[in-house]
Amino acid sequence: MLTLEDVLTELCRVVPIASFHTGDPLADDLRRYKDDPSPAVRRERAAALAAILSRFLERHGGCLGGPFTLVTTVPSARDGPAPLVHPLVGVVTRVAALAPLYRPALRDDFTAWELVRGHSVLLVDDTFVTGVHLRRAAAALLAAGAREVVALVIGRKVSYETPATFALDRCCLCNPA
Ligand SMILES: [Zn+2]
Repeated sequence: MLTLEDVLTELCRVVPIASFHTGDPLADDLRRYKDDPSPAVRRERAAALAAILSRFLERHGGCLGGPFTLVTTVPSARDGPAPLVHPLVGVVTRVAALAPLYRPALRDDFTAWELVRGHSVLLVDDTFVTGVHLRRAAAALLAAGAREVVALVIGRKVSYETPATFALDRCCLCNPA
């Protein structure tokens, strides 16, 4: 019998664009685009992250599979009141290749809206640490009838024993490490 884990492995691929260590410039961008007290800094860092997504999709959009019919983001799992619009939505909707397909598809309790049924979903998240939230989100999309889910993560946090990689000329699909 297939377990949920098997189904997720089969139907959900997770593609990190870069990996980073605590203290790297990318870690700083990934934190400040949400948390910096200055709106100007938040905007600037969001633009930097959108540029990373755009450049990656230009080179490796085809590696991801697709064509995707819906683009969505992982809900915020931070403590405290959620912002009206999650900053990650602001990043994704700055990316020309993603904006027209973006729809909010997951509620804050990680249940999916009915509209995902039948869609090939590109699920975007900013930071991958343990993958718990991403897996919850992917499972909810599949349970609600999404045909497939490919998860695209801007940065994967790795331990200091693992080298950080950030080279947009390759990706983990067309040139696995
Ligand atoms: Zn590639």
